[in-house]
Amino acid sequence: MLSNYFENKFPFAFNYFSNLLSLVKEGKRDFPQALIFEGADTKNQYLFALELARILNCEKTGELDCDCINCRWIKSHSHPCVNNVSQIHFKGENDETKSVISVKQAAKIEKSLSLSSDYHRFFIFFSSREYKYNDDELISFRKLFYSDNINYSIEPLNYQTFNPATLNALLKSIEEPPKRTTFVFLTKSREDILATIVSRCQVFKLSGEKNKVDYNDILNMINIYPNITYQNCFDISDNFQKYIKEENLDTQEVLNKILEYLKDLLKQNISNTSFVFKINNDIKIVKSAIEYKKASMQEKIVFDTMFLKIARGY
Ligand SMILES: [Zn+2]
Repeated sequence: MLSNYFENKFPFAFNYFSNLLSLVKEGKRDFPQALIFEGADTKNQYLFALELARILNCEKTGELDCDCINCRWIKSHSHPCVNNVSQIHFKGENDETKSVISVKQAAKIEKSLSLSSDYHRFFIFFSSREYKYNDDELISFRKLFYSDNINYSIEPLNYQTFNPATLNALLKSIEEPPKRTTFVFLTKSREDILATIVSRCQVFKLSGEKNKVDYNDILNMINIYPNITYQNCFDISDNFQKYIKEENLDTQEVLNKILEYLKDLLKQNISNTSFVFKINNDIKIVKSAIEYKKASMQEKIVFDTMFLKIARGY
């Protein structure tokens, strides 16, 4: 499934799409038909979109090293139904435009969608020009086992390259695509494209830095751990809940971080028998909190119970 490569880069999107892909593979959900990715790292947004397309088209389980025909096509940038759309990609015959994504391209997409397809079709929109990469810039492609034989840049969309006329010509395709069709728009910010499109898409911030710092803060907050008592356990619980809400964090992820913290602490104190006993015990408490959260128990109860049990010892 989704490579860990994205876990640090885009933690929220990584979790969200990991869950979603499982549900889609089990036939319990449809994959969204239109996505906007926003953030500074357009090249990794592009790789993220390709990985979504690869997993949805994989004939096996979607592992990174899969060698099924769909995975091989996508990794060599030659899948017949995973399309780049830019000023230099997906141009039709008689389309002389070179500096914009044209209305003719929108028509070409509409026409291609009128044909049926066995694949989950992707149209990945971005700004591009011919470009020669240096070695460092291609590392991310190699890390994910993609061919590094590419000669075009991957840049965010803007009003010049992706203008309202083309966007309007695309609206119908985006609103009523055949099943298993996904449009992805790579942007720095949703404000760089027309609001009429934005309202028809699910928007994801694909930027990792902020969340990364937040999880460090979580580690700082749990540093009080050996001194959690009856007197302070509910205050600590409140602090965590407040922080999760303010920073819009994923509760599951926060609980996982607390678990990781305890496991590290265990390794560092392995010779201290009584402390090891306590940590092992608390690891079980956190694990059961994770189970309660998965069972959709209310967040306040999950955290209150967990910190109370840690204070109490059982
Ligand atoms: Zn495969």
